[in-house]
Amino acid sequence: MSTSEGGCLCGRVRFRLDGEPLASMSCHCRDCQYLSGGAEANVKAYPRAALHMLSGEEKVYRSPADSGTFVWRSFCPECGTPLFAGNDKTPDFIAVKVGTLDDPSDFRRMGHIWTDSAPPWHLMEPDVPSAGKNPAEFG
Ligand SMILES: [Zn+2]
Repeated sequence: MSTSEGGCLCGRVRFRLDGEPLASMSCHCRDCQYLSGGAEANVKAYPRAALHMLSGEEKVYRSPADSGTFVWRSFCPECGTPLFAGNDKTPDFIAVKVGTLDDPSDFRRMGHIWTDSAPPWHLMEPDVPSAGKNPAEFG
């Protein structure tokens, strides 16, 4: 089984992911813009059971989503690096921020979501599927 490791900028948080991601997405919603510093959130989705924390503790921030559920996003309480995200509706899945991976180079997004909220200067590849809001299968 393939594994990958990652962590935060200061090194306090370290984790391991077992297996391959189920999906790779870029989310352009306004909330992700805040929490990425202005860009989209680039994430790999895994089953929650694939994530194993090796060190450190994340701090979790929850906010209401458009769909009525709550989205949580976590970060390192020391350096602020965004780590993971998920929502109350699909607790068995976790989104891992690509920037936390030791090797982020193999990220190939399958789609862009919430592109209606993207700023006009944010360029997207025309050949990658996109959805203006949250597609039903991700809702
Ligand atoms: Zn840190």
